[in-house]
Amino acid sequence: MGAIRYTHLPSVTTVPVVGRSERYPVRRVYCVGRNYADHAIEMGIDPRTDPPFFFCKPADTVFAPEDQGEVLEVPYPPQTSNLHHEVELVVAIGEGGRNIDIRRAHEHIFGYAVGIDMTRRDLQLAMRKAGKPWEIGKTFERCAPMSAICPLHLCGRIDQGEIALTVQGQPRQKSDLSKLIWSVSEIIADLSRLYTLRPGDLIFTGTPEGVGPVVPGDTMRASIGGLATLEVKVAAAEADEVAA
Ligand code: MN
Repeated sequence: MGAIRYTHLPSVTTVPVVGRSERYPVRRVYCVGRNYADHAIEMGIDPRTDPPFFFCKPADTVFAPEDQGEVLEVPYPPQTSNLHHEVELVVAIGEGGRNIDIRRAHEHIFGYAVGIDMTRRDLQLAMRKAGKPWEIGKTFERCAPMSAICPLHLCGRIDQGEIALTVQGQPRQKSDLSKLIWSVSEIIADLSRLYTLRPGDLIFTGTPEGVGPVVPGDTMRASIGGLATLEVKVAAAEADEVAA
């Protein structure tokens, strides 16, 4: 047997920052599940008895447009026939910490973005039904498209305002950030009791109702008041790679 070769070293995923040339290096991607009551209900869950919760996506599944107006592409992932969109407010942590006081949680925010938590819904629901982790439903190549990060000093604190997503110009998701079950401050405080937060940590804060399928050729437009609109096109499935 020959020695194992490294053909290249993995690079750190970075995201552009509005108004700056320096980029935001992504460390971890935390996500909140079922953080809007009407989305929990459409998923068949009673939000009064089943509170939100956390899961993660790998950092290298994040990608963002390099220029304003650039349309991102998500290849239709393998092993699914029900790829769903979930528009979400993304919070970028600027200062880390543990056991963060909820009253000071906002001091840990670097900025905000709009993102889409792309989901293989059929796999997620099959795993949920089997009582197994959702991982394969939530994680695949390029499953976390997001806009450039808008620093807090440019966009101010974002606690309310419209969050929306269209597919081929047709409205699909529309709600208000004030309907988050766990507010951004609560999420940061709670997460910091489970993990040590660090600069580079992104938090996808949950999606409102109206999630649904997309197919190759569809273009999604995700928007949050005060942030740049994110455009993502669903591309054809990638050809299988043949192992050397
Ligand atoms: Mn989500």
